Amino acid sequence: MFRKAMTRRGIALVLLLILVWTGTAFAFETERVSGVNFGDYGQPAYAYLQYIDSRLPDRDCVDGRNTDEARDWIAAQLKAGGYTDDQITVEDFSFEDEDGEEHPSQNVIAVLPGQTERRIIAGAHYDGTGAGDNGSGTALLLETACRLVKGDAPPHTIVFVFFGAEENDCDGSAAYAEGMSEKEVADTDFMINMDSVICGDFCYLHGGVADFKQKRVVGLEAFEKVFAIGRRLGLGIRQHPWTFDNPAPGFRVPDYPSPSTGDWSDHISFVERGIPYVYIEASNWEIPGPDRQYDGDSETADAGKIMHTKRDTLKNIEKLFPGRTLYHLQVFSLLISTALREI
Ligand SMILES: [Zn+2]
Repeated sequence: MFRKAMTRRGIALVLLLILVWTGTAFAFETERVSGVNFGDYGQPAYAYLQYIDSRLPDRDCVDGRNTDEARDWIAAQLKAGGYTDDQITVEDFSFEDEDGEEHPSQNVIAVLPGQTERRIIAGAHYDGTGAGDNGSGTALLLETACRLVKGDAPPHTIVFVFFGAEENDCDGSAAYAEGMSEKEVADTDFMINMDSVICGDFCYLHGGVADFKQKRVVGLEAFEKVFAIGRRLGLGIRQHPWTFDNPAPGFRVPDYPSPSTGDWSDHISFVERGIPYVYIEASNWEIPGPDRQYDGDSETADAGKIMHTKRDTLKNIEKLFPGRTLYHLQVFSLLISTALREI
């Protein structure tokens, strides 16, 4: 009897140990910088993200049940944050899905007048079904917009745009960029794209367009300014490692020589109008993605690809990478708010 009880207790102990072990085995570390005082940067974005993740999870641009509500909620947060009705516009456009069917969508725009008419466009897509892609960029853009409206007028006029239908060929940003007048294009110094900023292993800044003939990346003025601010603040912001001199393993020429990136997000709509961009994301360009390319398509070395999977929820990301979400929001929030106040 005693033996049997011991055995049962033994089994219970082993089961408990297995539970503890698997619990910790699936929690991974995040590389952090030390000595940076983040204040409350990133905290409002985290709260916005919690709301998006729990209340507005299905923002699919074709048939998402929370998409319209997300659009209205964004406009309401901008208003609550200090923007007047005159400063907020909801712009309609329509897009064709992959079956050729037309759907309505909207971009939500807030304009913060600066000391000059020179513009910076800061954008993030709010459609999709992920917390990381792109609840996180939406939340960060909201924090940035509501933070900057409270202080002195920034040097540039800042146009904050929450894009619809990015997951359908970047149609929202295309509608916005194609609708810009020649004067608006000429007045715009650069665009900042925020897409999937929490899950990945490292915080990246991308920018510029590859000139494969000259073997260089051009249009880097904005990138260099923002990157220098990240360096000065000690934020550990990276540019991805693959250059013409150092292509990824198995490649003779990099597809996206650093610090440039691919055409898979909203910055591309502005590149097509000749507007330079910077693009922030959390990812991992040092590991191959599902298609064997070293292009950040698989954002984590320890847990694989998260975006565009069912695992892109705040609960799952917090379980896999405790604290990473807030940390990456802190890093990017401090970077972007500082850049928009200084540049
Ligand atoms: Zn995205």
